[in-house]
Amino acid sequence: MPQPPDMIQITPTAEVTAGLHGSRAKCLQRLVRLDLPVPLSVALSSDTVHGLAEGHLPDIARLCAIFDEGDLLSVRASSQSPDWGGPGTVLNIGMNDAIAQRIAAEHGQSAAEALYLSFIRAYAVDVLRLDEDLFADPMTPRIAKAHFEDEMEEPFPQDIETQLTEVLRSMARAWEGTSARLLRRAKGAPPDAGLGLVVQRMALGLGKGETGAGVVQYVSSDTGEAQITGRYLPQSQGRAALRENDAQFIEKDPRGPSLEDRCPEQVAALRAAGELMRTRLREEMQIEFTLLDGQLSILDAVMVPRTARAEVRIAVDLAKDGVIPKHEALTRIAPFTLNQLMHRQVSPNGPRDVLTRGIAAAPGAATGKIVFSAAAAQAAQSRDEPCILVRRETSPEDIRGMHAADAILTERGGTTSHAAVIARGLGVPCVAGATDLQLNMRKKTLTVPGRKIFHEGDIITVDGSSGQILAGAAKMIEPNMGGAFATLLEWADEARDIGIRVNADTPEDARLALTFGVDGIGLCRTEHMFFDPIRLTVMREMIFAENAGDRAAALDRLLPMQRDDFTELFSLMQGRPVCIRLFDPPLHEFLPGDRDGIRALAEALDLPVSRVAARIEQLQEFNPMLGMRGVRLGITMPEIYEMQARAIFEAVAATMRAGHAAMAEIMIPLVSAKREVELIKDRIDAIAASVRRETGQDIAFRLGVMVETPRAALRAGEIAEHSAFLSFGTNDLTQMTYGLSRDDAGKFMSAYVNQGVFVEDPFQRLDTDGVGELLHLGAARGRAVKAGITLSICGEHGGDPDSIAFSREAGFTYVSCSPFRVPVAKLAAAQLAVKAPQTLSDSDT
Ligand code: PEP
Ligand code: MG
Repeated sequence: MPQPPDMIQITPTAEVTAGLHGSRAKCLQRLVRLDLPVPLSVALSSDTVHGLAEGHLPDIARLCAIFDEGDLLSVRASSQSPDWGGPGTVLNIGMNDAIAQRIAAEHGQSAAEALYLSFIRAYAVDVLRLDEDLFADPMTPRIAKAHFEDEMEEPFPQDIETQLTEVLRSMARAWEGTSARLLRRAKGAPPDAGLGLVVQRMALGLGKGETGAGVVQYVSSDTGEAQITGRYLPQSQGRAALRENDAQFIEKDPRGPSLEDRCPEQVAALRAAGELMRTRLREEMQIEFTLLDGQLSILDAVMVPRTARAEVRIAVDLAKDGVIPKHEALTRIAPFTLNQLMHRQVSPNGPRDVLTRGIAAAPGAATGKIVFSAAAAQAAQSRDEPCILVRRETSPEDIRGMHAADAILTERGGTTSHAAVIARGLGVPCVAGATDLQLNMRKKTLTVPGRKIFHEGDIITVDGSSGQILAGAAKMIEPNMGGAFATLLEWADEARDIGIRVNADTPEDARLALTFGVDGIGLCRTEHMFFDPIRLTVMREMIFAENAGDRAAALDRLLPMQRDDFTELFSLMQGRPVCIRLFDPPLHEFLPGDRDGIRALAEALDLPVSRVAARIEQLQEFNPMLGMRGVRLGITMPEIYEMQARAIFEAVAATMRAGHAAMAEIMIPLVSAKREVELIKDRIDAIAASVRRETGQDIAFRLGVMVETPRAALRAGEIAEHSAFLSFGTNDLTQMTYGLSRDDAGKFMSAYVNQGVFVEDPFQRLDTDGVGELLHLGAARGRAVKAGITLSICGEHGGDPDSIAFSREAGFTYVSCSPFRVPVAKLAAAQLAVKAPQTLSDSDT
């Protein structure tokens, strides 16, 4: 007869489900089905537990009657997903004076007292929430019971039903508590996630022969490599072996006999159980076991706790051994987990002295001395001293300092501000928008409210993965991109059905992305090539030119430098597409902002300071992001784009002469009108024609438009007439769609997210409703005019799994993202492909 699901004995055929009884109960049933020696266990459904929290008791007498008179019981949490946690296990329920006496007679007074005392403590403190200090050492069960009685005004309960009722009730209530809710919500649990409970017959862990308890697993929690890890403690229960330094190793204990030396058969049985779980549960499990006079029981098995590195290794090894298919290995790893393998991380096991937090703008962590200027960062680097560059916000002038810094911290900005974009590209950890910080650039101090003042040279740690700023040096975990990581990426390449390109401005970026096996460069922001000091000076000469002739002379000097840049990129990318965006930012970004800088520039250009200052003022704009930048600059100062186009074509010619293929794409930024494209296209075509004539080579290229303004998306039809491709620059497009400054939004973003105005920072996660509608519109209008037009996203959203899903559904050809996002994007794309209906039906049958 089927048992009611509210309280169900875990047998091979019982209707235990993870949804109703939780993953632990389901796992125990699997162990039972595998004929493993699991003690009698009963699963309580999440409905029962929910009722308990509300004051409705299940039939406790019926529950107790399933076990034998005198059995001690344990209760364990069984949430639907093991990640959602749950209240801690309670052992030895049923312990009372009579059982203590019996144990004393069989195993000695002190063993009985220790067991009884530990239960009274757990019951009083963990279950009934009495003050822990009341039950502190030294203590005997008699005194503990007296304290209990004083507090509760009733004797310590002797009957198992009362004890069990209170244990179950307290676990049910703990699950409903606010902090438990918040914790599991943070791990992805739905608001109504329920808790099942497992009541199990205890193995006492005391007695004659080989008796005790242990925990064992067959892979390392740190690396995932095959390695037996575990401890066994004679005359103990539960996980006590993990807490005692002198607990024995399972195998090969250099300090003395291991468990295997004394109990080879039992250790062999445990190994066989681990292997069976691996192949049948398709997971590496950590096994809790007891021996009772040499007889093995398996009480529980949970997924081996693991670092990100171990998680990848375990999934890959399971697939390599044929335990799971490759596509399942791909879906087992959350894409952002890979960040933890690519960057140093603050160790989860070390202490964290958190000073404040900002926006987690570029992953990874670094410790170093505080510096307040790019020059100081470079100086620190030359002394081999790790440093943290702290700025109000960064500007192109800081680039070299950002290269030199080990991490970047800015008071202002958000996920697409200058600091964030550059840091992600460089793979340098960054926290932006740490608005609590008070920076005094003149005094070179950093004040954290309520904490001390930090000076230049003081040590801090920036955790760009969590957004936290920590005092002092934190314990770190090193990156690891070998073996399993590389294999997982290979499998992701086999599975994915959307292109992944990289946003790369330098050969280093391109090289790094190639190690991740990228499909091409989707965005080369050429302005980043001008920050080298020599180039910056020539650039500034160009900006200060009085007339077109002088400007052309400065550009002539920049031309060979740009040509070399592009030649290197083309040859590195070996025929993969390289999409080069023509110059985009407002010119004043290349000019110094302070007096010292202006004086130095005046000297370098041999001009009076007043002239330099006047020109800088002339170039100032009230709203530079909406001013003279992008294609507007290209139209008003055509020499710049002409120089860049020539550099690209000459680089193509040079690459081809060297016997390599070069696939050049030229992208026009910040377009809002068809005529802009026509004007630029005519000039570029003319340059291409002259380079073809001059070199005699057949130079091929594709010209496209970066859709960054709402108007460009709306008018994508007519823009497409002249474009081989449209690439959505979702940073600017988000900024302009919301009317939200990407450099200032950090100030109020958390208030907006906390109050639910935005579900998430739209610069981080594509707003698929609003900005997404523009993308759909733009794509449809572009395709209506040119059916085969190439479509893509190249804003920072490009590497985000949600945007990849969006792009894939919209039929885009590729997404492009910063180099360290490439592996994340590949894995996300692969997961989408293998989860797509047609693939699932293939593999599931
Ligand atoms: C964009 O606007 O999405 C983009 C990629 O360009 P940038 O971030 O350089 O403005
Ligand atoms: Mg842009």
